[in-house]
Amino acid sequence: MKLPRGIQVLERGWLSSNNIVLHAERAAVVDSGYGAHAEQTVALLEHALEGRPLDHLVNTHCHSDHMGGNAAIQRQFHCRTSIPEGEAPLIDRWDGRELILTGADQRAERFAYDGTFADGDTLRMGEYEWQVIAAPGHDAHAVMFYCSETKVLISGDALWENGFGAVFARLFGRETALAETRATLERIAGLGCEVVIPGHGSPFAGVAAALERAFARLKGYEEDVHRLARHVVKVLFTFAMLEKRSMPLADVPAYLERVAILDEINRVYLRMSPSAFAEWLVADLERAGALQRRDGSVLARGA
Ligand SMILES: [Zn+2]
Repeated sequence: MKLPRGIQVLERGWLSSNNIVLHAERAAVVDSGYGAHAEQTVALLEHALEGRPLDHLVNTHCHSDHMGGNAAIQRQFHCRTSIPEGEAPLIDRWDGRELILTGADQRAERFAYDGTFADGDTLRMGEYEWQVIAAPGHDAHAVMFYCSETKVLISGDALWENGFGAVFARLFGRETALAETRATLERIAGLGCEVVIPGHGSPFAGVAAALERAFARLKGYEEDVHRLARHVVKVLFTFAMLEKRSMPLADVPAYLERVAILDEINRVYLRMSPSAFAEWLVADLERAGALQRRDGSVLARGA
């Protein structure tokens, strides 16, 4: 899809979020990918910038696959970094559980930020003005960036072409998280945007159809929170396998008990024995084509 002048998307696999480069004499980049890909992120950015300076790194939200390359980008480009206001206390505390890092077997290098932004602010990034729009749901403090001049929305994980980022917080005591997700989707519907650049996957123009799919998925979670619990487990395990590439099948039950978030979701919502939990999860992901079993191991797609 052809994007307006000066907007470039470095599309990544699912382990790393897209990096959106907003070109100008002093360029900006939105999101930095997963830590394990930080070197590749820096190389991709260097190539995209062709020697021009990077002025500003911003994050839609502070999950590992969106901020994992922040520290490496700062070292390389000496740019300033801004994050959503609501994420600032979490980054200050760097609590592995709150940031869905250690508790989910994910990693990110700690970084410092220079400033914050919040709903209603306007940021000049690249050639355009971008309105900051709160996007709670998938992450309570996430934001999106909307450019009314080009009608482009940088949605982070609030809206993908097929769905949206898993609403973790609903499973851990944030009762309002699904209602917030609904309000965020409604807010997107009201923008009149023509192109969405999601955090994962290609930019897309069928915004109304994507919203319809997202609302349908959300309705399923609203009707039965166990659907969400199963979805979150699958998302987190698939993500872990993208990084690990393979794991002995016999180790899966113990892994699921060791990773705090997975263990808690099973204890509270799914209530399976460790071996039944592992068997269900692997079989389901194998059916979906996300994993395969071979020679006593479970392998990520393409491994
Ligand atoms: Zn996310």
